[in-house]
Amino acid sequence: MSSATHPDIERVLVSREQLQQRVKELGTEISHDFKGKKPVLVGVLRGSVLFLSDLMQNISIDCSLDFICPSSYDGGMKSTGVVRLLLDLRESIEGKDVIIVEDIVDSGLTMSYMMANFKTRRPRSLTLCTLLDKPACRKIEVPIRYKGFKIGDEFVVGYGLDYKEIYRNLPYIGILKSSRI
Ligand code: IMP
Repeated sequence: MSSATHPDIERVLVSREQLQQRVKELGTEISHDFKGKKPVLVGVLRGSVLFLSDLMQNISIDCSLDFICPSSYDGGMKSTGVVRLLLDLRESIEGKDVIIVEDIVDSGLTMSYMMANFKTRRPRSLTLCTLLDKPACRKIEVPIRYKGFKIGDEFVVGYGLDYKEIYRNLPYIGILKSSRI
């Protein structure tokens, strides 16, 4: 992706440099907190892939990787409130230290559902790491242990986040022009 801002973007909210810096800090924090353990990083498809990729390169302890794909948005802008699990974990998480790596917590419905679901599988610990926290629209509280940035009530795209499957490849987090929505 070129360094020019995409023409559909109203403004850049979090720059590439800010993302890299914060993700590095989160990786360092996780490496410190989970020292002596081998956490499983569970990436939430598809929005978390860029964040997860950068985050794990900044984690200095041994860790493994798995994925889930919940869907409650169907490409739109607001959660439908109905969470469907389109892809489940490949490995058992029983007795393991699990870190869910999410792109954004908005209503909280998706993560609340996933955390309740995971708890029934008896992990040793269950931790949530999200790049973005949008608390203005929260419908249900979820315990966020690691957070990249808190943002306002704006629909953002880039660095893995999409609008109708577009804009995931932007290397920054930006606000879409209202004319594009
Ligand atoms: P929640 O269930 O409302 O917390 O929504 C979580 C999911 O909604 C995230 O994993 C995103 O895929 C999507 N989402 C929420 N807000 C945004 C946004 O501002 N931009 C892009 N996707 C979003």
